[in-house]
Amino acid sequence: MILTVTRACNLRCAYCPTAKDGWPSLSQDDVRAAVRLFADRYATVARPGDVKLFGGEPLLVADVVRAAIDAAMARPEIRRVYLSTNGLGLNRDWLAWLGSQPKVILTVSMDGHPKDHRGLRRALPGVDDAYDHVCALLPDLARAPRVVVSQTIAPSTARRAGANFGHLLGLGFRRFNFLPGYFLPWRTDQLDALRAGFSDIADQIRAEWAAGRRLYVRNLFTWAPTPFFNTGLVVDADRSIHPSNVGLSGQIDALLGKTQVGTLDQPPTKKALRDGAVAVRDRLEDALDPVLLRSTMAADAALTELVTALYPAWLASKHARQAAASS
Ligand code: SF4
Repeated sequence: MILTVTRACNLRCAYCPTAKDGWPSLSQDDVRAAVRLFADRYATVARPGDVKLFGGEPLLVADVVRAAIDAAMARPEIRRVYLSTNGLGLNRDWLAWLGSQPKVILTVSMDGHPKDHRGLRRALPGVDDAYDHVCALLPDLARAPRVVVSQTIAPSTARRAGANFGHLLGLGFRRFNFLPGYFLPWRTDQLDALRAGFSDIADQIRAEWAAGRRLYVRNLFTWAPTPFFNTGLVVDADRSIHPSNVGLSGQIDALLGKTQVGTLDQPPTKKALRDGAVAVRDRLEDALDPVLLRSTMAADAALTELVTALYPAWLASKHARQAAASS
């Protein structure tokens, strides 16, 4: 289940498909009801499901995030809770609390060197610098369990993707997720730079594994039927329910009216949700400018190449760790 707890955000990232003003946010009661609905109807103890807390910036409604996590912690039908944040709402107390919630995996957006991070992740007036804010918390982030850094690579920073990854490694992060900018126009030279950047990143990761150092790459374990967007029970900030969060994209938010399959008060059947998910890919292809669709698929293919290139080394490092543990 994906809870878009709010569409509001204190940044205006260059590649952001989602930040929007004028939307409501979910309330604490809404997210409790959503967790109850998901655990009662769509997940089981034998086949537990995950809850993803997305935005906008979820920590702008911190009390709602906390209520969702509390509710999910109490239900054995829920395995993990993923919280994605730009980091501005984090502080030492939050990190300590999140670290004490064994189901929670925290994903923090960091795009690399401060120049690129700041160039892409523009703050609204009066908002702190996100890079400095996260860096001030590095000792606490290093102590916190289950912290993943999400590195977004935009067309304008693709040439420096490898250097930016190296910078993030140097800050001490050990868990990563890579995101090429989706639903953006990528020129041919930028796509070439993206492939070269991923190749550089792969070399750095393989070197870490070869040296026996642990490094987690989330992309090795994820798959989705559409680039970037996820299918599932998606509860949007206005309490409407969709089979995909594709409507988050400002480019194609006209799809929202077509993908809605219910509300928190009138939830869909499992079949309606499944059928809606199957239709999403075709709807996306119909709605998107063909140029954007082509460049999105090309950027996604570059990410798939990275993952495919990493599997053999990942398996080798896993076997080496197992052998060391059993000797
Ligand atoms: S932090 Fe996330 S939601 Fe906010 S503007 Fe950036 S990409 Fe969009």
